[in-house]
Amino acid sequence: MRLILVGPPGAGKGTQAVNLAAHYAIPHISTGDIFRLNIKGETELGKLAKTYMDAGNLVPDSVTNAMLEDRLTHSDAQSGFLLDGYPRNVGQAEFLAEVLVKRSITLDAVLELSIPNEEIIKRLSGRRICRNCGASSHVIFDKPKVDGVCDNCASELYQRQDDKVEVVANRLKVYSEQTEPIIEFYRNLGLLKVINAVGDVSEISASAIAALK
Ligand code: AMP
Repeated sequence: MRLILVGPPGAGKGTQAVNLAAHYAIPHISTGDIFRLNIKGETELGKLAKTYMDAGNLVPDSVTNAMLEDRLTHSDAQSGFLLDGYPRNVGQAEFLAEVLVKRSITLDAVLELSIPNEEIIKRLSGRRICRNCGASSHVIFDKPKVDGVCDNCASELYQRQDDKVEVVANRLKVYSEQTEPIIEFYRNLGLLKVINAVGDVSEISASAIAALK
């Protein structure tokens, strides 16, 4: 299975990606997670990405495309992958198409998680991330057992800089102006499946799997 997950920030791409990657036994490749790992490790890539991420803007394509192409060469990605957060604009979608042609592979589907804007704001403003394992929780909808502490690994939870209200507004603008056009791109290729991303996490995963059958 070679799959792309697309949807606005807060649609639950990360959560659904984990479930779908486990279901299809494929690696979950999140460009946002790779950038965050680099920021944590204080690498040159991390330093560069941070300024864009903190403002809710896209990291330049030259950097992101090279990083993604490299990730696709790893052995775990040879028989399938799930891309989460990439491509993020038409230039990246075209670059990915060239990479796939070079490697003689094709995509199976692009799954769009559809969600209204007011729901996004509620989700993102309460989202908290574990500093250690990256698991996400929510101060209202998915409360950890102990406030501020990760249920998985007992490390500290924090709010992503780009989940702060002022940055979320810019991320939504970037999504509608730059990312939404890729939906049309993949619809025209006959690859697009759209599912409703509001509701219970496991029900959304089940409807994703049904849509992908
Ligand atoms: P995410 O975790 O997918 O919400 O990504 C967080 C941030 O990382 C985004 O707001 C961008 O700044 C950056 N980012 C992630 N994926 C990409 C991408 N494909 N192209 C450019 N920037 C990206």
